[in-house]
Order: sequence, then C-alpha cells, then structure tokens
Amino acid sequence: MRTLTSADLSLNTATVSKQWTLAECIDGCARHGIGGISPWRDKLQDCGVDRAAKLIRDAGLGVSGLCRGGWYTSEGALTQTVLDDNKRAVDEAAAIGAACLVMVVGGLPDGSRDIDGARAIVTDGLSATLDYARTVGVKIAIEPLHPMYAADRACVNTTGQALDICDRLGNGIGVALDVYHVWWDPDLAAQIARAGKDRLLAFHVCDWLNPTRDLLTDRGMMGEGVIDIPAIRSVVEAQGFDGLVEVEIFSAEDWWTRPADEVLAAMTGALPSI
Ligand code: ZN
Repeated sequence: MRTLTSADLSLNTATVSKQWTLAECIDGCARHGIGGISPWRDKLQDCGVDRAAKLIRDAGLGVSGLCRGGWYTSEGALTQTVLDDNKRAVDEAAAIGAACLVMVVGGLPDGSRDIDGARAIVTDGLSATLDYARTVGVKIAIEPLHPMYAADRACVNTTGQALDICDRLGNGIGVALDVYHVWWDPDLAAQIARAGKDRLLAFHVCDWLNPTRDLLTDRGMMGEGVIDIPAIRSVVEAQGFDGLVEVEIFSAEDWWTRPADEVLAAMTGALPSI
C-alpha cells in the first residue's frame, strides 16, 4: 500500500461547500499541498467551465472526478432533457480533464414502487451517456450509494450491482467507490477484485459516525468513525489503483460550520487514518 501524502489527496468541493467557491477551493488546495480537486457541477458552473479549467491547470491540480451526472429517473421515464443534461456533464468533465464523471443514478420516480423499473431506466440512461462519453474520452463512474438512499437518490446500491451494469455496457464505465456507501458490504473485497484496476475509477473517503444524526449531512472526518479505511484502501490499491484519494464530507453541524482552512488542515492531518 502507498504511503499517502497530502499530494495524493483530492478535495471534493462538497467538503467545504458552504464556505468556498471553486476558485477559493483551488487556492486552498495549493496552500495546503493537496494534489487534486473534484468539483460539483454547481460550483463549476458558478465559476465558468473555461475559467475553472484554466485555474485548475495553472494550480497544477489533478481532477479526480466531476460530481455529478445521473438522476435518470428524475422525470419518471428517461427524457431528452435528462439525457441532454448528462451530455453537458460529460462535456464539462472533458473540459476540466476529469478522471471520470461520477454518476448518482437516481432513485424511484415520484409515486413509484417499481424499483426494478427504476433500475432499467438507469441502465438505459447510462448506456446512452456512455455512448457519447466514449466519443470524447470521458470515463463514466457509477457510484453505488448506501441502500438507505435507494428511494430518493440512487437505486444502484452495491458494488456488485454496479459492476453487473458495467459488464452489460462494456468498456469506458466503472465504479466510484465511496467508503461511506460500501464499507458495510460483506462482498466488498471480492467485488473490488472483480472490478480490477480498469474499472476502479475513483476512491472517496470520509467516515461513518455512530450514531449518525442525519442520513445525508452527518459524515465524519477520516478517523472519527467506524470505517476501517486503510483496510479498504489496501484492497483497492492491491488492484493497482494509484489515483487520488478524494475527501468528500457532508457535515451540516460540524465541518461545514468551521473555517475552510481548518477543514483542509484536518484532511491532511487525517492521513494516518486513510
Ligand atoms: Zn462519493
């Protein structure tokens, strides 16, 4: 396993979403020696895609991903509006040189109890986006989300399920593994081995607090919770993964209330827990 330094970390902008713009995040990474960034699309668009691409390039940062495409079920059936938005997301990922476009695929359509149907919509949507992404050289990363989000955010809930979709759709698509979503899965190590280097496109870290006070916005800094992050990273790196380790923390009552420089200092301070 690699010995990580701050240069191996990437700041997912959600981690300081309440404090900083994308330009401030880029400056902050440079100040703290953090080697990469992963913007969310709202911050990217606020900055302007071309300007952001230049700022990231000038700062010498890697781009571990763009968050996020997907939401294929948001209009019930798969619509052109949804497909067009995903196409724009692919173009934005290409413009900033992102290692992948991270997909939060969408949950159940409003009023639906048909999770199999939702999963079929998602697979069709991913297939269409992948067709376009291949033409511009952007990799698509399905992020399986913890099952507690199956209804409202993503009906792809395990690494194995995500890889089944990848198997069907062919090359250019893989998984974004977020320890928050997958740490509990007894099949995780086997599925990471099944994914292999080519399909391990992103590795997101934070921690699972026990108790968790909010299902969405109570993630911990690495080392604060119950996830054995080094154990998961060792399995991921045993497959040859050598990308940036992306720190993605939603924390309404703690990290989002602190000065952003303090958050970045805590990220680099948490390296021994990754
Ligand atoms: Zn994530």
